Amino acid sequence: MAGAGAFAGIFKMTEGGAQAQQKKQGGFNRNSAPSQLKITDMRSVLVASNYDYPIIRIDTNQGVYGLGEVRDAGREGTALVLKPHILGRNPLQIEPILDSLRNFAGQQRLGGGYSAIDMALHDITGKVFGVPAWRLVGSKYRDRIRIYCDTDQSQDPKIFAERLKKRKEAGFTYFKMDLGTRLVANRPGAVNNRGTATEKGLQYLCEYVQAVRDVIGWEAPLATDHFGALTVNDSIRYARAFERYDLAWAEDMIQVGHLGPGGDAPKDWRGYKELKEATVTPIATGESLFGLEEGFQPFIDNRAIDIIHPDPLTSGAIRETKRIADYASMHGIQTAIHFAGSPVGCLACVHMAATLKDMLAMENHAVDIPWWGDLVTGPSKPIVNQGYITVPDTPGLGVELNEAVVKEHIRKGGYFDPTPQYDDYILDRFRQGGPYPHLDENGKLVVAR
Ligand SMILES: [Mg+2]
Repeated sequence: MAGAGAFAGIFKMTEGGAQAQQKKQGGFNRNSAPSQLKITDMRSVLVASNYDYPIIRIDTNQGVYGLGEVRDAGREGTALVLKPHILGRNPLQIEPILDSLRNFAGQQRLGGGYSAIDMALHDITGKVFGVPAWRLVGSKYRDRIRIYCDTDQSQDPKIFAERLKKRKEAGFTYFKMDLGTRLVANRPGAVNNRGTATEKGLQYLCEYVQAVRDVIGWEAPLATDHFGALTVNDSIRYARAFERYDLAWAEDMIQVGHLGPGGDAPKDWRGYKELKEATVTPIATGESLFGLEEGFQPFIDNRAIDIIHPDPLTSGAIRETKRIADYASMHGIQTAIHFAGSPVGCLACVHMAATLKDMLAMENHAVDIPWWGDLVTGPSKPIVNQGYITVPDTPGLGVELNEAVVKEHIRKGGYFDPTPQYDDYILDRFRQGGPYPHLDENGKLVVAR
C-alpha cells in the first residue's frame, strides 16, 4: 500500500460521507487502504412502489459505501438490527461477516437483512478492487439476463391474452401468467366445495392458457403462478390438465408445511416430490426460502422439483444464491429467479445470475412503473431493454441512487437518516450487557466483567 497521504485523495477519510466516494476506472486501486477499511454506519430509505423497497446503505471510514436491499414488502429494520454486529468490521471480509449473521436470517422477508448486507458488501468490495460484483463470485456465463414479467390475470381470456401480447410486443421472449382458481369461480360447476377447480373448472382454466398460447405462440416459454394453496392431489390434477400446453413451469402449487402467512415457504419437500413424479409439467418453488442448508437442499437432494425459483433478496443475495444454484445445477436442476424490488436489488441479482450455468430467466415486477428505472443511475436505460438486462462491467453493483427521484417516492422516514437507535445490540445469540454478579476464585460474590 502507498502511504496514507496518497490514498486520502481517492478515498477521503470521512465518517459516513457518501459524497466522498469517487468512482475508479478499472484496475487495482493502489492508493486505497483496504486493510484499514472499516464499516462505520448502516442507514436506510423506504421507497413506496408496487411493493415497498427497503434500501440500505453501509458506510465506511474511507468514504466508499455499498447499497443493498431487503426483500420487497419487507422492512429495513430486518437489516438495521444487524448494524452493531458489523460496525468496525472490514467490509472486504464478506464471508466471515455473513457467517456471523447467518443465524439471524430466516425464510420469507426474514432472509432480507442478511441478503441486503451481502449486496452492500459486494458493492463496497467491487468498488475498492475496481471489479464488477459478478467477478467476486465467479465468471460471466452471459452478457445479458433474460427477463420475464409477472402478468396479472383478467376474467376475460381475450383481455388476459392481450396483456401477454403487449409483453411480446415490448420484446419479451419469456412469459408468465397468473392462473388462479378465482378466474373461473363465477362459472357454474367450475369450483368444488374445497374451493378448487372441478374437471370442468380446469377446462375453463385451460381456455386462458390456450388464449395466451394463441398470441405468444407455442415456441415461447410460458410459466404459470398463483394457484393458491392446493392439496397434493389437487396440484396433480391441475398440473396434468396443463401438460398439453408445454409450460415452462407451474409455480408454488403446494403450500404445505408453510411458515406463517403467505404459505410460500414450504418445508415439506415430500409433497412436491409426489407432485413432480405425477406430472411432466415442470414444477418450481422457492421464492421465500433462505439458504442452501436451511431452505433448498432437501428439495434438491430429493429431486422434489424441476426448477428452483429463489428470490435472492430472501435466499441470501449474491454469494448464497450462487451457492444454491450451483448445487442445484450439479443435481440437474435449473434456476429461475424471482424478483420484485428496486433497481438496486435487481442489478445485484443480475450480477449473480450472470455467473450461473443453468439460468432460465429472471422476473421483473415493475416494467409497468414508468419511474422505476429513474430511481438509479449507472445501468444503461431502459434497464429492461427488449426483454433483457445488460450485465454491468462497472465496479461493485454498478448502480447509484438518483436522490431526487428516490425522495419523490419515500414511503415514510427520511433519506438515509441517522440510525442511532440501532447502535446497540437488539438481537443476539449470547452477550453480557455489562458487569454482572458472579462468584470469583475465592467464592466471593463480585460484580465485574
Ligand atoms: Mg410467485
